[in-house]
Amino acid sequence: MECIFCRIAAGEIPADVVARSSGAVAFRDLAPQAPIHVLVIPIRHVGSAAELPVTERQAVLGEITALAVQVAADLGVAAAGYRLVVNTGGDAGQSVAHLHAHLLAGRPMKWPPG
Ligand code: AMP
Repeated sequence: MECIFCRIAAGEIPADVVARSSGAVAFRDLAPQAPIHVLVIPIRHVGSAAELPVTERQAVLGEITALAVQVAADLGVAAAGYRLVVNTGGDAGQSVAHLHAHLLAGRPMKWPPG
């Protein structure tokens, strides 16, 4: 298995997993950009949001977003606020070709993003 996030989902390489659902895994980012920085991925490989087949968009994006919202609540940042980001493709700076949502929290965020 080549994809590093597939290997994390399969438990083949270590990660600080904070939550799982039937179709998604949430784990802490190795290079956190905020006091809380969690990645939420679908277990099944898909390269990016743009590569999701139309028929799977609602289910897969729903699965990872729902788990991110749950993790935010579990980590106690729902009231203070948080940001969910899905970098998609080159202009967005996506560096790992396995769909993932970033959950960022624990400090005030700036807008617009860089
Ligand atoms: P993106 O730039 O949106 O593709 O985000 C990829 C993220 O994956 C970056 O924030 C990296 O720090 C993170 N990352 C890469 N490899 C790992 C890993 N093995 N465990 C946890 N996070 C990782």
